[in-house]
Amino acid sequence: RAKHSGRSTFSWYTADMDVDAQKRKEIEADLVKALKFDQFDILYQPQYSLIDNKLKAYEALIRWEHPSKGTISPDNFIPVAEDCGLIEAIGDWVLVHACKEAASWEDTSLCVAVNVSADQFIPGVTEQKVAEALRLSKLAPERLEIEITENILIANTKAVVETLKNIRSMGVSIAMDDFGTGYSSLSYLSRFPFDKIKIDHSFIKNLGKSTYTDAIVTSIVGIGRSLDVLITAEGVENAEQVTLLRAAGCNLVQGFLLGRPASVKSHETLRARQAQDPMLIDPLARQLH
Ligand code: C2E
Ligand code: MG
Ligand code: MG
Ligand code: MG
Repeated sequence: RAKHSGRSTFSWYTADMDVDAQKRKEIEADLVKALKFDQFDILYQPQYSLIDNKLKAYEALIRWEHPSKGTISPDNFIPVAEDCGLIEAIGDWVLVHACKEAASWEDTSLCVAVNVSADQFIPGVTEQKVAEALRLSKLAPERLEIEITENILIANTKAVVETLKNIRSMGVSIAMDDFGTGYSSLSYLSRFPFDKIKIDHSFIKNLGKSTYTDAIVTSIVGIGRSLDVLITAEGVENAEQVTLLRAAGCNLVQGFLLGRPASVKSHETLRARQAQDPMLIDPLARQLH
């Protein structure tokens, strides 16, 4: 998925590509080193409310600072990590580090969203990992959100529901990521405890260009309403999309228009500059003018 690869210029692996065994071994060995020598980094992407135009949260997105290959995007190594079992250790690292960083933010109203992939989601274990990250970081549970995908709902339904309930009972919220791309079933939706749906960017991309897509997005927002969950739109890149999402009743937006994944420090610098310069107003306010 080249469109996902961000600033990375190097591609080792894509979902559609068969990587030969030799290459996989190489990546695995390199991933072990990456964990050992602390080569992972987390970038943060802002999520804004369409209700009050305010910054609400940052999503934590992992990057691999490879010593010779440069920055590598998650789409290029997470699938390998999932297959070889290293995703657990990488996931633990992300969870603890994202919580620690969020606990250090000046604005204590901001939440942090952490991705947990299906292979990483282990009933009976994941809730303990979440509790441990909260304990180590001293982050208020209400400030943590776990992003899962529909794929975790396929197997072992009962145990998965139990774990989601356990996580929510700590005060942590659950968001359903990439909604509409996976094993979507409306009956599943009503059975699984979660707080938010993130509409996949593939739908947002065609918003305003296809009446079919517009209808799907409006329907998802409607589902969110009736299930009493918040709706976030992913991959928002232009003002027209924001206008349509507002009209549809979408709650939150995330995408390059509002900010690319970057360090929180650089987001703060930009926001401080925007606040001081009357000519530089934030993207959501600008969209209203
Ligand atoms: P995701 O969780 O759906 O994250 C959103 C992805 O969309 C990010 O790609 C982000 O950079 C990209 N994106 C954001 N806004 C826009 C936009 O306006 N246009 C376009 N075209 N793309 C946008 P990224 O950072 O490369 O991450 C890709 C995927 O890798 C994530 O998708 C997530 O599934 C996975 N991932 C990232 N970090 C982690 C992690 O710490 N753990 C696990 N298990 N998976 C992760
Ligand atoms: Mg996500
Ligand atoms: Mg997504
Ligand atoms: Mg994804």
